[in-house]
Amino acid sequence: MHNVDIDLVEMSLDIIKYAISRISDTDPKLGFPRKAEELKALVGDTVTPEGIGGERAFALFKDVLVKASVPIDHPRHLAFVPASPTRAAVMFDLVTSATSVHGAFWLEGAGCIFAENQAMEWLVSLTGMPAGAFGVFTSGGTEANLSAMVTAREYWREGDERNSKTRGIVIASNGAHSSINAMAKVIDADVLLIETESRLESSHLAETLAQMSAEDRARVFAVIATAGTTNAGIIDDLAGIATICRSEEIWFHVDAAYGGGALAARSVRHLFNGIEQADSVTIDPHKWLFSPYDCGAIIYRDPKLAKKAHAQEGSYLDIFSDEGAKGFNPSDYQIQLTRRVRGLPLWFSLATHGTDRYEKAIERGIELAQIAGRLISECEHTELVREPSLSCVLYRRKGWEAEDYRAWTYKNHKSGFALVAPTKWRNPEGPETVSRFCFINPDTTEKDIRDILFTMA
Ligand SMILES: *Cc1c(COP(=O)(O)O)cnc(C)c1O
Repeated sequence: MHNVDIDLVEMSLDIIKYAISRISDTDPKLGFPRKAEELKALVGDTVTPEGIGGERAFALFKDVLVKASVPIDHPRHLAFVPASPTRAAVMFDLVTSATSVHGAFWLEGAGCIFAENQAMEWLVSLTGMPAGAFGVFTSGGTEANLSAMVTAREYWREGDERNSKTRGIVIASNGAHSSINAMAKVIDADVLLIETESRLESSHLAETLAQMSAEDRARVFAVIATAGTTNAGIIDDLAGIATICRSEEIWFHVDAAYGGGALAARSVRHLFNGIEQADSVTIDPHKWLFSPYDCGAIIYRDPKLAKKAHAQEGSYLDIFSDEGAKGFNPSDYQIQLTRRVRGLPLWFSLATHGTDRYEKAIERGIELAQIAGRLISECEHTELVREPSLSCVLYRRKGWEAEDYRAWTYKNHKSGFALVAPTKWRNPEGPETVSRFCFINPDTTEKDIRDILFTMA
């Protein structure tokens, strides 16, 4: 594949030029999805025996395909959990690919894994977990949660032979992310959801455990608290839950996929107290730590337990545990074997900017949520559903029904102005459709928020 011809050189330059102009564009066009049939009509067959040529393929990408995709770093993309990768991180994502390093084993990836690990050391330091705690970068929060659940269950089963054939139970709350349920299915475990979308209090957990039959109680192998619910930014009572988990000898996992970035923000750090007692923690650098997709992380209090659960064995892998090649093998601590060194873009960006800049950018997201809260309260036609939490704001347009929110979302998105999506909030009387902001991008302005609220008038 390395026969360099002049066309390829030119195409490479075009691609790099495009990448540079894209990351310099602070107000990219907000794309809108098209139906697959429409795209087919516009693009035709691109994968053919002869190939259509890089020039043509790239033109189709720029003129059609990318326009039917949504840039997550648009300053008025405030739906779901948006993102805002730094330029340094994005450019280094290209470098990571160009470098062609296999990131599973120290033997092949030592230097790059060393760099990833320095970024990981900073993440671990944010949690305040004790010496020895360490982690690996994963494809995202879902894989991180899965890797933690597999480790927790293995530990539970190792601890008591009777558990080896028992179907386990994970306890979480309604505020937990959908990936908890989905990954419990993957490992064939049951999930017991405590009925609350607000802060999960330790008293809820204590009651739930007390009400379980002895048989079910014995099946509980993990409690999963959320530190920054995806919907509302709520942080569970981590310290209280940690205390119960310790006395009941249950694995304590904290899912901070979205909220974890805010561990670096002094103004809210106290809300996370107790996270240092977790057995495992999920943090997604691709959410609030300005990494490009895909980059999650799983951190373990005792990485040896993860290794017991995850290390793969096989004759062609033996060399990787040989004395001459010994080192930190990321594949030992999560479910993936072959992996890109996906922590490298984060490392380069951290090394470039320093962690103080990160703290500032994260604090800005929290500040934007406070600004939005004030504007919503001042505005006659809107009101807060609850006080902003971390960078999430739930609010209602007085008098609107689900259909009004839906039509409003499409209208703003189609016109290329903004992407703000409705969500549901569980009131005591039942679920209500409301509007939601999630701020990540520090370049979002107060004017952006005003302009969006104005379109609700
Ligand atoms: C986003 C999110 C996840 C899933 O992470 P992915 O990176 O999308 O796989 C899990 N838990 C929480 C709390 C999240 O916000």
